[in-house]
Amino acid sequence: MKYALILLALVSNLAIADQCQSDKLSIHKNFAMGRYNQCQQLAPDSYRLTLKPENLPINPSPWYALKLVSSQSQDIELELLVEHGKPRYLPKISLDKQHWQPVDYQIDGQSMHIKLTLPEGTLWLAGQEILDNDDYQQWQKQWQEKGLALIQLGQSVQGKPIEGLVSYADSRDWLVFIGRQHPPEITGAMAMDHFVDEVLGASTEAAQLRKRFNLLLVPNMNPDGVYAGNWRHNVGGVDLNRDWFSREQPEVQAVHQYLQKIVASGGKIRFAMDFHSTHHDVFYTMPTDYGLTPPDLVDNWLAKLAEVIKPYPVNIKPGHNKDRGVFKQYIADTYGVHAVTYEVGDNTDRQDIADVARAAARQLIPMLSALP
Ligand SMILES: [Zn+2]
Repeated sequence: MKYALILLALVSNLAIADQCQSDKLSIHKNFAMGRYNQCQQLAPDSYRLTLKPENLPINPSPWYALKLVSSQSQDIELELLVEHGKPRYLPKISLDKQHWQPVDYQIDGQSMHIKLTLPEGTLWLAGQEILDNDDYQQWQKQWQEKGLALIQLGQSVQGKPIEGLVSYADSRDWLVFIGRQHPPEITGAMAMDHFVDEVLGASTEAAQLRKRFNLLLVPNMNPDGVYAGNWRHNVGGVDLNRDWFSREQPEVQAVHQYLQKIVASGGKIRFAMDFHSTHHDVFYTMPTDYGLTPPDLVDNWLAKLAEVIKPYPVNIKPGHNKDRGVFKQYIADTYGVHAVTYEVGDNTDRQDIADVARAAARQLIPMLSALP
């Protein structure tokens, strides 16, 4: 009995730390990507939300998403206090979790301060637009209806399917596009969406590409991390984009095994790309003289892209690092072909993300089709 009481006390303490609840307002994270670690009411209209990483060490990208349920219209002040990092994602609000608008904020060291006028009812606040596992299910369904095959490549740590969409060609050559290794990197996910739209689109060039190449698309590499609102890792506590050589995590193993099967049955990986977000737009490429086939494919592509989107900048950072375990390096070293890390700025204008990704695809498609 005594132990039961202690347990009850512990559980209720956790509940208090987990959410703030009063007659006027309750703050929740009980939805996909919902995330903060503690909520503390500092004054009648003032709340502190503490953000903590899933584990350490981590490349700090403090994600947050919360639901505010208010019984009346009211003004409140929120402090988002980051442990082990500094604020990165700028606050946005939504009434329906679909349409988002930025709100004012102040950053002071490890804290971000936000003043909100809450309507009666529900308001969501998050670091970026929310794109969760359900959104990927819908996205995949839409492409399935247009003839792509949905395949299960494997399972995440928590048993969620790692799914791929495949467009089959009468050929042994494959192109590979993956996304969302890092859960909060929404702008990269947006770029992938627009890019894929062009690749799977109705243009003659896209149709030719799909005749020439099989396509594997894995838009959501880290469904556990996405659901949990993780800052960066999978729920195994690992940065998936550092795991491509050691391959300890099932999400990475799933894709690797599929690619190995392709090669074992006489197929060839010809090009790959993964989509991410960082502080600014940049393409991380493999160096021209790295010995990949053909050497100048990416240089030519990005030069063309720069030409057509001028004066919008195309930042290119060639590099290689055998030890880091990133996808781009894994593709280059394992399959001898170019791979690009397509990074989109966290705060890049959403229309620019679409325009650049579509232009990037339109320039790349004929170049790939022309490969010997
Ligand atoms: Zn990333």
